[in-house]
Amino acid sequence: MQRYVKKMNKPNIYNKKIMKPSKFSTVIGKKAFFLFPKFDCLTWKGYAYCRTQEAADRINESDKIDSRLESHETIHVRQAESMNDSWFKFYLKYVREWICNLPLIFININAPYYFMPIEMEAYLNQDDWTYCMKGAVNQWKEFEKLTLKEKREMAKEYFSYEKKPYFTHFLLTKLMRTSN
Ligand SMILES: [Zn+2]
Repeated sequence: MQRYVKKMNKPNIYNKKIMKPSKFSTVIGKKAFFLFPKFDCLTWKGYAYCRTQEAADRINESDKIDSRLESHETIHVRQAESMNDSWFKFYLKYVREWICNLPLIFININAPYYFMPIEMEAYLNQDDWTYCMKGAVNQWKEFEKLTLKEKREMAKEYFSYEKKPYFTHFLLTKLMRTSN
């Protein structure tokens, strides 16, 4: 029965090429054949390619969003929905944001990734599992207004801690302070 339910929730694979982000209610976990080092999961066209089969199974376990990983990756799907419902625009922006952040690589090799507006929104809201259930999200637009100098200051602070705080909490305190 569960297998049947799971199958029903999968989008029609024959439409995969034209499938729009809004057609995905959440991500579908799959075991990745290859992942860049340091990546635990990579979402490509609504499929979350995970390093381990266990992580992929956990994503597919229920129809609800019930893990931080699934919530994080689903936020990326909802972001793609906000970009004219286009995977192409999402991935183009993803690469562009990472390149713009490249100067941060001198602080830490992971800093360009963490301070991409797209990732900042996903990390900031990944613990609120209802966040990605309301359709398109576009908080990333706010974070696009941050200058490289502002991001550099945040990155310097974050990577200066010997025991790094949970990134979601770090962002919460930082962004709350700047809005006051
Ligand atoms: Zn992410």
